[in-house]
Amino acid sequence: MFRQLRFRLHRIKRPQRYQLLTPLLAQQTWDRTALLRKQREDLFRLVHFAAGHTEYYKRRYAGQLPDQAQELDISRLPILRKEDVIKQREQMLSDTCDRQTIRLGFTGGSTGNPLSFYYDTYKMELMRAGMARSYMWSGWRPGEKILNFWGAKQDLKKTRRLNTAYSEFIAAEKTIGAWEYGEAELHRWVRFIKRYRPVLIQGYASIIADVAAFALENKIAMPSSLKGVYSTAEVLYDWQREQMQRAFNCQVYNQYGCREIPNIGLECQQGNIHVFTDMVQLESVNMQGEDKLLITSLTNFLMPMIRYENGDNGRLKSGRCGCGSAFPMMEMGVCRSNDFIKTRAGKKIAPSYFNRLLDGVTGIKQYQFVQTAWDKLNLNIQADSRLERDSLNSVGKKIRQDIDQGLQLEINYLDRIERSRSGKHRFVICELD
Ligand SMILES: [Zn+2]
Repeated sequence: MFRQLRFRLHRIKRPQRYQLLTPLLAQQTWDRTALLRKQREDLFRLVHFAAGHTEYYKRRYAGQLPDQAQELDISRLPILRKEDVIKQREQMLSDTCDRQTIRLGFTGGSTGNPLSFYYDTYKMELMRAGMARSYMWSGWRPGEKILNFWGAKQDLKKTRRLNTAYSEFIAAEKTIGAWEYGEAELHRWVRFIKRYRPVLIQGYASIIADVAAFALENKIAMPSSLKGVYSTAEVLYDWQREQMQRAFNCQVYNQYGCREIPNIGLECQQGNIHVFTDMVQLESVNMQGEDKLLITSLTNFLMPMIRYENGDNGRLKSGRCGCGSAFPMMEMGVCRSNDFIKTRAGKKIAPSYFNRLLDGVTGIKQYQFVQTAWDKLNLNIQADSRLERDSLNSVGKKIRQDIDQGLQLEINYLDRIERSRSGKHRFVICELD
């Protein structure tokens, strides 16, 4: 009943967002040839703009750019690394920008080296338009209610004060700050979901999985208004997805994007992640045995990010998806924000190995492997009661067999497992230098 009213009011408040949404919705109906042609043209325009209007790319692209879009080979352009962005931030900024209207955004900085980037209202509105398109894949329509669970404290301090009841009403969106919580908060949030009746739930995978687990354990039925759960910012594990689907009785969509470059991809109803080629160009490059993603934002002319190595792993996937979307597909690696475990012999063990280790061990709410020395791995567990000694022993045995005979596993029961500074839950941490 209120949806249309909200939508109309919100469109008046945010005209640019809905203007930007229209072409995005049109483009997703194009065939793949048309999408890839647009992508090539967008890239060509962007690299020439960057070379002409930023000191950084002027220097790095000197003499390397062809005059024809067909001749541009992105793989010949230099890679943009995080340390480049940290050191060259000012040189990457376009000389056409109005310095009075730009703001600085920050990434979580879980590596201890936070990265900052410039954005403006246009970039923000385009991001929200891209997100609205993603939400619509679930059947959500503008004006319908969304509930966010956010784990990063720094994001919420400001918006909270600014949000009035009126703007919350017309935006049809509420955000719960979830960087610190226990049973009492989970209980409150589950009750709130029942009362608020959102159409979408969005947020960090680990937090939504906790909320889902609480609802299941306490047999609290979630509202039938829900059409989708959008998991973001963290790796979404199968057991979390399964928990969410059971609790909320709707499809779970894995979203892929980062703060610097949002709206990279989205999982469809068939379970494939599609790449939004009208907003980004994605490459997967094998570096030291890992498939690293390089991302180019095709829409950022303020501070161009071209072939940006954001640290995530993944691969492009060929073929067509049964859902009918012409956007190409990709696979995510599970290494986002997690570390590799190392052995003295020089072996590196990917975080995905640890993801499956506890399959079958029941009663775990949250866990984390932390390597504190060459021969010491701590398994921190958050659980209601002690787990079966036998199954934990077999985990230790398996680790020694697979990784290193000298590696000792120590089990610690914790009341809660702390999140990283960015609010993300990390499953595997290596504290060796
Ligand atoms: Zn699909």
